[in-house]
Amino acid sequence: MQLPADFAAQLPGLMNLNEVPDWVQPIAMVYSGHQFGAYNPRLGDGRGLLLAQWAANGAEWDLHLKGAGMTPFSRMGDGRAVLRSSIREYLAGEALHHLGIPTTRALAVALCPDRIYREQVEPGATLLRVTPCHIRFGHFEYFAYTGQRAELVALLDYVMQRYWPELAPNEKDLWFADVVRRNARLVAKWQASGFAHGVLNTDNMSIIGETFDFGPYAFINEYDPDFICNHSDDAGRYRFGRQPDIVYWNLMCLAQAVSSLIDVESLRASLALFGDVFWREYNNLMAQRLGFTVANEKVVAVTQRYLQLLAEQKTDYHLAFSRLINALSGDAGAWFALFCDASGAQAWFADYTALLAESGVELSAADRNIRGCAPAFVLRNYIVQNVIAACEAGDDALLHRVFDCLRNPFADEAQFDGLAGEVPEWGRHICISCSS
Ligand code: AMP
Ligand code: MG
Repeated sequence: MQLPADFAAQLPGLMNLNEVPDWVQPIAMVYSGHQFGAYNPRLGDGRGLLLAQWAANGAEWDLHLKGAGMTPFSRMGDGRAVLRSSIREYLAGEALHHLGIPTTRALAVALCPDRIYREQVEPGATLLRVTPCHIRFGHFEYFAYTGQRAELVALLDYVMQRYWPELAPNEKDLWFADVVRRNARLVAKWQASGFAHGVLNTDNMSIIGETFDFGPYAFINEYDPDFICNHSDDAGRYRFGRQPDIVYWNLMCLAQAVSSLIDVESLRASLALFGDVFWREYNNLMAQRLGFTVANEKVVAVTQRYLQLLAEQKTDYHLAFSRLINALSGDAGAWFALFCDASGAQAWFADYTALLAESGVELSAADRNIRGCAPAFVLRNYIVQNVIAACEAGDDALLHRVFDCLRNPFADEAQFDGLAGEVPEWGRHICISCSS
């Protein structure tokens, strides 16, 4: 459908649930999913409603209102969302989008007049999420495990027609292979960008390969593959370095769910693509972060050594790349200052610059490559916490400033005065709870 001409004027009433215009026909969807490895047979939109599908810019966009109140799938919950988590989702969508990572985004967040009970009483909010697709791996699992074969077939037909129009209805094997490829590329981008999703349950996995339902997410600070951002994830199932394995595991769940519709050997062959696609994408992105244009064996080796150095010295992941730009132009002080033991960094830097020269990469080209993918401004959790505290106190100036930074995160560190650079001690190890 087309949105009404006065959509912007209708938005406040809609977001505050005061008015339901006639072009809105709210739907709450059922799904299930594997949560922390265990199957939950019945989940669904417990605090969200699909309001409408909006045709714009050659695509159809789902408008989904999160925090919209109780639905038949609310279980023990109140159907509401808090301002804190709505701001977190809004900012992360922008951050990921401007880093070139497929993601859902938000069109608006609205503060609600009433207060919400979580660990404490907090301001409530609604968020209008925009994405072409709200279909999750968990939708397929629901119809598979409830034995609703006709519905499962209809779901897959709908998904293929809407999101894979280039495929014929009988090319279901090609569809699954593409889902594998998209998700492998997605998780490679998270790893290269230092993004930890936090709750990679199968109900939080989008079928089109977008970052989806990121609650207690974090951009890592120091490089640590064992980093856990989710307070509820005691065992570290979704720790940063494990995300590729978990996305693969989730794809296996999806394969299982569609195994009555697609030949099992072809599902296996598609799953087997995952490793190659992941590593190719990841190695290319990491090569670019070091200024190279191709990821050959030597480049991969020098990258691995760098990551090892960062892990050993607990060095900030993002500054370790963005400050290389200065180091390459002869001003290495701020980069060296990131390492507690400068001799290891010195040895690596000598080998790295030798490899740039051997590869015929001019320093200006390396500079350009790094600048295009290693942001100086990163949406770190401490920044989000500061934005939330300010907004809860009624001041949205920092929110708007951060929003501007997110649109151009690759500018020089100095241009973000105070918002890029070293993380203050209090902000280094923030852990976010799931209760939002
Ligand atoms: P999430 O942690 O947001 O991925 O949600 C997991 C499941 O819990 C989904 O089925 C949600 O709809 C449901 N849920 C989360 N928060 C609430 C809430 N406040 N009220 C009702 N359902 C919720
Ligand atoms: Mg979810």
